[in-house]
Amino acid sequence: MPLVRTRFAPSPTGYLHIGGLRTALYAYLIAKQRGGTFVLRIEDTDRERLVEGAVEMIVRTLDETGLVPDEGPHVGGPYGPYVQSERRAIYREQAEALIERGGAYRCFCTKDRLDALRAKSEARGETFMYDRRCRDLPPEESRARAEAGEPFVVRQKVPETGTAGFTDAIFGAVTVDNATLDDGVLLKSDGLPTYNFANVVDDHLMEITHVVRGSEYLSSSPKYDLIYEAMGWEVPVYIHVPPVMRDATHKLSKREGDASYDDFIQKGYLKEAVINYIALLGWSPGTTREKFTLHELVEAFDVSGINKAPAIFDPDKLTWLNAQYIRAMSPEEFTAHARKYYEEALPPGDYDEALLCRMLQPRTERFTDIPPQLDFVKALPDYKTELFVHKKMKTDEAVARTVLERALPALTALGEWDERLIHDALFSLVKELSMKNGQVLFPVRIALCGKRVTPGGAVEAALLLGRKESLERLRAGLDKLGA
Ligand code: GLU
Repeated sequence: MPLVRTRFAPSPTGYLHIGGLRTALYAYLIAKQRGGTFVLRIEDTDRERLVEGAVEMIVRTLDETGLVPDEGPHVGGPYGPYVQSERRAIYREQAEALIERGGAYRCFCTKDRLDALRAKSEARGETFMYDRRCRDLPPEESRARAEAGEPFVVRQKVPETGTAGFTDAIFGAVTVDNATLDDGVLLKSDGLPTYNFANVVDDHLMEITHVVRGSEYLSSSPKYDLIYEAMGWEVPVYIHVPPVMRDATHKLSKREGDASYDDFIQKGYLKEAVINYIALLGWSPGTTREKFTLHELVEAFDVSGINKAPAIFDPDKLTWLNAQYIRAMSPEEFTAHARKYYEEALPPGDYDEALLCRMLQPRTERFTDIPPQLDFVKALPDYKTELFVHKKMKTDEAVARTVLERALPALTALGEWDERLIHDALFSLVKELSMKNGQVLFPVRIALCGKRVTPGGAVEAALLLGRKESLERLRAGLDKLGA
């Protein structure tokens, strides 16, 4: 069996769509589970869409997510160059070869002529198809005009009759009538190829065995097969994957800020969770299992589990999966990730990171959940005394007043601001006042945090705030209660 070679062939538009990353992932998995090679190829022939730094961003993302290419512009390899704009000479040469073999021809029609043709077919409500005027120019004339410097494009010479088609690994047989196909441009007048030509030439010359790409290329693939056929090349296995949608009718879009890998990292998701989630986006392992590391995906992935239907992106599911990864982290890992969010949320100071981790790890689904949970530390919210009223806790303003009046001196008296001591002081109060735990802890926590939902309880809040701030806040609570 020939060695499996797959490729990821993004255009450097400065934006790695989550659907594109999923294509890269599937291509990577298919290669790696067969001990094959994963290639990165940059498709930059559309010079207008180029964005500076885009290639670096793609390489960084692949490295970061573990989808490390074995060959590519940054690492080289035996099939380079891996950037299409550096392969001009190759396309020109292959286009000449295709002309020789009767699969293409030079077209000298001017832009004006083509515009006029296009306008005519539009007026008739038809899709424009080139009228093939240059298709049957005598070869000597065609060559002579090119050599004389007349501008031309190279067009595909699609057979007038018959059908073209292939069997896609996911979509099955795809066939088109050749009569419906346009003699599309393969090589532009500037010598750069269109995607329609470059993808075939490169996939062949780079010995790609499995082409994984978006299903938007499904309908044009028969045309590519005609090129393979005319060149006498072997057609690779095609695996067209369905799009990633926001809902039944909308694709995930750049504008909504919910479509790129970086968007998700910025929203506090872990790269492992993103990779795991997008693997499941359109692929089913055939079991109910949902958590897979990249390594486990290499083992488990199977093309037959890819779904034909468009995949709907479910942010809640990603969040759920992300939470699984967060729960499974060691305290050190959690802290390493959380630190920058602590810095964002907390006033400068020395914080007990083990305490923060204990408070936040069980309550964090995305790292961006952290700052709002800690917002009470920077500034005590301006709360109303009704906040002390809690039916279930059996607290009201009178209970809160009693508790704070006693808690303030008890905590002030502590020799050290230490977890055990704070805990014991508050639980002694429970006994002395013959109250339930919550009747003491709830008002203290409200006075310390000024909000109902907080990570951790009264003791943790007191520790986090420190002695001085805690005592001031208890005092302020009492003042509010009019004591
Ligand atoms: N450059 C194409 C794109 O970004 C790649 C298609 C392919 O993988 O062949 O859509």
